[in-house]
Amino acid sequence: MGVKRLENYINGEWVEARTDEYVEIINPARMELLCECPMSGKADLDAAVEAAVEAYPEWRNTPPVARARYLHRLIELMEERFNDLSVVQTREHGKTIDESRGETRRGIEMVEVASGIPTTMQGFNLEDIAHGIDEYAIYQPLGVFCCIAPFNFPFMVPLWFLPFAIATGNTFIVKPSPRTPMSQCELFEMLDEVGLPPGVVNMVHGGAEIANGLMEHPDIKGVTFVGSTPVGRHVYKKCGETGKRVIAQAGAKNFIVIMPDAEIDKAMVSLMSSFFGNSGQRCLSGANLLVVGDDRRYREVVDKFVEAAKAIRVGDGLDESVQMGPVQNVESKKRIMGMIEKGIEEGAKLRLDGRKLNLVGDVPEDCFLNPSVFEDVTLEMTIAREEIFGPVASILRAGDLDEAIEMIHEVPYGNAASIFTNNGKWARQFQHDVVAGNIGINVGIVAPMAFFPFGGMKDSFFGVLHGQGRDVVRFFTESKIVIQRWF
Ligand code: NAD
Repeated sequence: MGVKRLENYINGEWVEARTDEYVEIINPARMELLCECPMSGKADLDAAVEAAVEAYPEWRNTPPVARARYLHRLIELMEERFNDLSVVQTREHGKTIDESRGETRRGIEMVEVASGIPTTMQGFNLEDIAHGIDEYAIYQPLGVFCCIAPFNFPFMVPLWFLPFAIATGNTFIVKPSPRTPMSQCELFEMLDEVGLPPGVVNMVHGGAEIANGLMEHPDIKGVTFVGSTPVGRHVYKKCGETGKRVIAQAGAKNFIVIMPDAEIDKAMVSLMSSFFGNSGQRCLSGANLLVVGDDRRYREVVDKFVEAAKAIRVGDGLDESVQMGPVQNVESKKRIMGMIEKGIEEGAKLRLDGRKLNLVGDVPEDCFLNPSVFEDVTLEMTIAREEIFGPVASILRAGDLDEAIEMIHEVPYGNAASIFTNNGKWARQFQHDVVAGNIGINVGIVAPMAFFPFGGMKDSFFGVLHGQGRDVVRFFTESKIVIQRWF
């Protein structure tokens, strides 16, 4: 029996990619081959853009309330298939089934919020800007948009954009990550079933070639990208050259500050989930734990953190008792182990060595790591400055909040930062002064809800308007001003 080969979805149909190049998709918890993903070429991309261009005029003229009805049907299908959708994410990515359920839920919430478009897309007006003259602003769609997606939230990330793009009357193309393409196939099965007109949504599998093709294509109006900082920077630059709107959400190195008065026992569940949830492969993951206080306090926090990390159950994410799955592939594990080596070389103390495996059940070791914890980390060290994107925590110390904030600002990223404290003044100073797009106050993972924009600053974001919420509605529309007078 041959292995299943994924297909592209173009103009309302599943079609074989015009390529001989396929990559194997492997379940990292079991090392079983799941399917093969095509690395599509220019002909596939051109066909998808052509379909999206052709579908646009009629879709744009479909009333917003009628466009939203397709999304209502999509929500129903997503709820019906909730568990199956979550299982696919776990199998292709490795995250625990509970984390996948969280991802599915977040994805549904995006569609729910986008379905409010008859309200959220409204413009505004003022009567009598001068005698007998009225002025109003209307928001209109622009044409074809696309999403270039990362591997780590294979179901949810394209949903930060797709439902808002089509609800506002644009047509859309998704390029999933070639590392985790299956979840998007599930989404497109449902989009197919809701009966959207052909060409309104399209999916082309592939890698950098397709991504660059989308950014270069003259018929694409705007690009949404989520991924690493070097690629995000490249996307921003390229879209500048080709004159496209762009949202580029990029990498991270998030700090969590523990103040002397923080209730560390109550915080611990949130901290574990922040540092080791999704095996550390989240742009909102805690990476640097910054302890403010004297030696005794530092010891207390480090000891409790290490104990909690040691107790995390690691194994196949489909096992409900497992709290952390494998990293997504063998190369990721190698890269993360390289960072652990680097931390040791640069003088940090490895308090918990996650390379020594302790796994639940009988699973192949290829992609697994247990949590690692470094202490005595300083900001000069690579592990404190660079994104590791794996289950590795670095613990640093600061004398007071001012120093902690200065340290946060020395790292080039600005995706998220959290403070744990009972002191309102400290919390307010943190919120006011820290240059990061998502701020947590006694919250470990600052994941904005669908009706708020997804923040990001410095090297974690390139663009002006953000994904989700009001920002993304604005991103997918252009304002037009009308001034009228009747003689
Ligand atoms: P990645 O940058 O390697 O890939 C992202 C996408 O870009 C993929 O679709 C890939 O095929 C494409 N791509 C890769 N190289 C390219 C190139 N040279 N030219 C054009 N396209 C290219 O990222 P990843 O490893 O899939 O995802 C992990 C990264 O994403 C982490 O850095 C993480 O922090 C970040 N991330 C950020 C957010 C956020 O909202 N800020 C959310 C999730 C993930």
